[in-house]
Amino acid sequence: MLAVVPPPVTVRVPSKINLHLSVGDLRKDGFHELITVFHALSLTDEVTVAAAEDPGIEVYGEGEGSVPTGANNLAWRAVQALAGYVGKDGGEPKVRVVLRKGIPVAGGMAGGSADAAATLVGLASLWKLDIGRDDLAEIAAKLGSDVPFALYGGTALGTGRGERLVPVLSRHTFHWVLAFDQRGLSTPRVFGELDRLRADGDPPRVGSHAPVVEALASGDPRQLALLLGNDLQAAAVSLRPGLRRTLRAGVNAGALAGTISGSGPTCAFLCADAQSALEVAAELAGAGVCRTVRVAHGPVPGARLVGGDDLP
Ligand code: ATP
Repeated sequence: MLAVVPPPVTVRVPSKINLHLSVGDLRKDGFHELITVFHALSLTDEVTVAAAEDPGIEVYGEGEGSVPTGANNLAWRAVQALAGYVGKDGGEPKVRVVLRKGIPVAGGMAGGSADAAATLVGLASLWKLDIGRDDLAEIAAKLGSDVPFALYGGTALGTGRGERLVPVLSRHTFHWVLAFDQRGLSTPRVFGELDRLRADGDPPRVGSHAPVVEALASGDPRQLALLLGNDLQAAAVSLRPGLRRTLRAGVNAGALAGTISGSGPTCAFLCADAQSALEVAAELAGAGVCRTVRVAHGPVPGARLVGGDDLP
């Protein structure tokens, strides 16, 4: 008798920016305590998982040449983690994972984490697992601190290393322009640069996250624009001084404010509305200060099956 092969499953997953990112001092274990407000954007990756005799990863799209296709791809680590969780560890899981990337690689927008989250959601469906988003979030947290947020999306306060999440009420759709840089920046390198800057002096630190949370509840982009803040910005700009020019160009083009997303180098510009975002994007694209420009809005939901039932 022929075995029935389940149809492939495709999942769409958002990128993230950090509306607020406060970085604590370096701990003895080498990590930094973070307080961050994550915001999921409509700039997405699509991940397809399929049963296959030749397991592996294929990558297409944004930055495809710089994404590993072996065991150190975060999506493949998600395959192995879920296989282990459900007791499928007898050898390499027989799945093929296809990543269609729209999220810039090493751009501070958590693209690898997004792919891992999407892979968990896709496999839970492909393997018909009786497992909910909260169970997947426990596996996700072990894969990386940004992975749980990519599962839930929306806007959320993240603490610890970013993996402990509480949803934040956000009443409004906010419109963004994203400027991708020529090359990515390594996250550990940016944290290292912040430690160096702090050892040499006392770069200003972002204040409390509370006003950002209030601005999100009010839904006023002008209020939010005044409060965007990221402790990693000084470090990213120190490593990539040209980002200062990009940030200035976005505001000169009409954005309400600009910030570096996460560890950079992607710059995110908050705009007054959708029309303004299109105008800012057009002007920024012609300013010669970045590789590519995209418009996006947020908040959007986390990893979701494309055209199918969803997880509990
Ligand atoms: P974060 O902000 O979460 O630190 P990032 O958005 O700056 O991450 P990613 O795009 O997640 O950066 O990738 C960081 C590195 O991880 C890449 O340089 C790449 O070598 C590796 N990587 C592993 N898996 C993936 C993946 N699925 N997509 C992109 N990069 C991946």
